[in-house]
Amino acid sequence: MKTRRIIGLSIFATGLIWFQVAGRFEAHRIDEQRAARPVTQTRAAALRIDSDRLMEVVTMLSDLKFEGRAAGSPGGLAARAWLLERMKSIGLQPVSGSYVFPFTFTRMRVSGRVDGAGANVVGQCLGRDTKAPVFVVSSHYDHLGIRDGVVYPGADDNASGVAVMLAIAEHCQRTPFLRTVVFAAFDAEEAGLQGAKSFLIAPPFPKERISLNVNLDMVSRNDKREIFIAGTHPWPLLKAPLELVAKRAPITVLFGHDKPAAIAGGVEDWTNQSDHGPFNSAKIPFVYFGVEDHADYHQPTDMADKINRGFFVDVAETVLDAVLQLDVAFATVPPK
Ligand SMILES: [Zn+2]
Repeated sequence: MKTRRIIGLSIFATGLIWFQVAGRFEAHRIDEQRAARPVTQTRAAALRIDSDRLMEVVTMLSDLKFEGRAAGSPGGLAARAWLLERMKSIGLQPVSGSYVFPFTFTRMRVSGRVDGAGANVVGQCLGRDTKAPVFVVSSHYDHLGIRDGVVYPGADDNASGVAVMLAIAEHCQRTPFLRTVVFAAFDAEEAGLQGAKSFLIAPPFPKERISLNVNLDMVSRNDKREIFIAGTHPWPLLKAPLELVAKRAPITVLFGHDKPAAIAGGVEDWTNQSDHGPFNSAKIPFVYFGVEDHADYHQPTDMADKINRGFFVDVAETVLDAVLQLDVAFATVPPK
């Protein structure tokens, strides 16, 4: 950039008109390059994710003492308290004066009406431009709890997503992004995306400020080292920056699971399968990261020791790369 500026100035010395032409050309080029420029030129050398801390979060949240983190259960409340302290220790700021946003919900089951309660844990990392539209990076911290006396630890689903979310928050606190990023640990996802729904019905700040949701749910294991990105079909402006990320990722990044199965050759549509669904319904673009279901999905065997640590760290790096790339790609214009 500096080189280009010096060339511009030398042109100024020889004629104002030429300077103006060069200046305009340069501005145009910078805009183009901004969207195309890889954020991490030396990915392999730049270890930005602390893999020990990543695993520490998964091991902690999937510990039996949290009893599978069912919304409203003693284990769920204990997990919430741990998360709150972790967000504070990372340095995240409260949103509208609070970190914890309680809500209630009602579900109609075959057995009748079921009332429930939960609370989202939310913190923000202030951006360099506090007026820019914000990103919401989300992951649900609840899981299935105890069923028939058996604890469902939910390591991949979704202690893994929470761990990656917190790793991005730590990076943001060290090196602030252009925009403010709100980190939302949603509760009661397993009870029907209740935390995300509540967040959008009663947002802790005007939801018009949200330009994108990046949702993480099950991101730590896949035998083929593949992760899916959903969201670029309904929100095609996201495709170009995310393709750049996919190209340089150390894992296989696949696009899909974001259109009706009828037009996708029977491939399952995940648009309403996790917390990005309510954002999409509210006309807010989303990017979802997640793996295909595995043998331990929604089983008591979804434990931390099943996680593929190498893949998990590579996914975390890829998600961080994506958030950084989108932060730059949509520096001035939100992806709506
Ligand atoms: Zn999940």
